[in-house]
Amino acid sequence: TPVPDYLAEVLDGVVADRSGRVADYIPDLADADPEVLGVAVTTVAGRTYAAGDADVEFSIQSISKPFAYAAALTDRGTEVVDATVGVEPSGEAFDELSLEGGTHRPKNPMINAGAIAVHHLLVGPDATGAARVERVVDFFSELAGRRLTVDESVYRSELDTADRNLAIAHMLRNYRVLSEPAAEVVDGYTRQCAVNVTVRDLAMMGATLANAGVHPVTGRRVLPAAVARRTMSVMAGSGMYDGAGDWLVRVGIPAKSGVAGGMLGALPGQLGLATVSPRLDAHGNSVRGVAICERLSRDMGMHLMEAE
Ligand code: GLN
Repeated sequence: TPVPDYLAEVLDGVVADRSGRVADYIPDLADADPEVLGVAVTTVAGRTYAAGDADVEFSIQSISKPFAYAAALTDRGTEVVDATVGVEPSGEAFDELSLEGGTHRPKNPMINAGAIAVHHLLVGPDATGAARVERVVDFFSELAGRRLTVDESVYRSELDTADRNLAIAHMLRNYRVLSEPAAEVVDGYTRQCAVNVTVRDLAMMGATLANAGVHPVTGRRVLPAAVARRTMSVMAGSGMYDGAGDWLVRVGIPAKSGVAGGMLGALPGQLGLATVSPRLDAHGNSVRGVAICERLSRDMGMHLMEAE
């Protein structure tokens, strides 16, 4: 079967599953069309295959976290980043208010506490909020291979109801993890999460990670190989939050989910893959996205721990 037909068939296989719920803690996301369904795969050789709603935009949300982490590692180096945020799976929900005992570091950059701290590290110690936002939007755009923009409506809507992230940021500020007022950092982080993407964009971004930091189409080195390796490692351990262990066993691909319904996978040396379907399971991961990734992993032998 040609790849696009195969991908369309994979979508057909999950379309009947209407379980899960669209995220509604961000008012704007509650209005998302729950039937949107798309998939894209980009190989490290730069070929993209897609099916379904591959050109529908949605906000990147938490899928921004691994890429912001990669940018912060590139900007500030491993030592500074490690001093601020750990790499241990938290086994907790994405929005948990918790820090590592003793060090007061967020446990990893994939939960909100870690991602807010990482956003604050971007560019340099004296960077303005605007410079940090520009850094991530430029970086995401370079990875995607087209100009991406912030969805102002999603951004406003999330900021209006960002009490929990503000609480997390105040906690970080209390321990001097943040050197600026909590509200300023949450503002930038919320913009980072509101960048609009398609599954084609995400598959390309994932393929760049999988290709050790070299963009598969432009051939440009977008991030150091060591940063790509570390980012995929952290995705493997914590990308699916409190569902990460189960995910690693069943699918075996470093991945990241977002509350707008997107999912990103990166298989080192092979490909980037992305899905969109807004209904989420109890962990905040896309129900159909998880099912599609399971199927692709099985059919194409993509599990990392498989010998061949
Ligand atoms: N912007 C969202 C938040 O901070 C991202 C969460 C997610 O996608 N899991 O709550």
